[in-house]
Amino acid sequence: MANVIDKDTVAAVHYTGTFPDGEVFDSSEGKDPLVFLVGHRQMILGFEEEMMGAAVGEKREFTLTPDRAYGERDDGAIQQVPRDQFPADMPLEIGTMMAAQTEQGPLPFTITDISDDIVTVDFNHQMAGKTLRFSVEVVEVREAAPEEIAHGHVHGPGGHHH
Ligand code: ZN
Repeated sequence: MANVIDKDTVAAVHYTGTFPDGEVFDSSEGKDPLVFLVGHRQMILGFEEEMMGAAVGEKREFTLTPDRAYGERDDGAIQQVPRDQFPADMPLEIGTMMAAQTEQGPLPFTITDISDDIVTVDFNHQMAGKTLRFSVEVVEVREAAPEEIAHGHVHGPGGHHH
């Protein structure tokens, strides 16, 4: 069925994500809907699981605990790095997000503390350890094209152009 969300469909949704205290952390309100290829890890797994089988026009609300969202926080992902490992001309501020170059590609981290010679960095995802609520409305669903499935992303409006 092409008109419900399933693996290898392309879904367009409007969504609002909130923390349990009601603070909005992300929303498509007033913007184009979010378009994604289902079943190719473009979205967190819990989000896709909750939206499976949803039809155009359907609204769903759900809560994802960290294990179904961005994972639990890992204290081992907090590291202390000598300040001289950063370029001398690089402005360092608490809260700054940067990326370390690794063999697996860029690995994002956040600076959480700075002293004279030590910079404390946190490789946890900024949403790790957080429970997330979503309110989602399905705008459009279509079958993915074979090239989209092969590439693992959406082509055309809302997607990848090449
Ligand atoms: Zn492509």
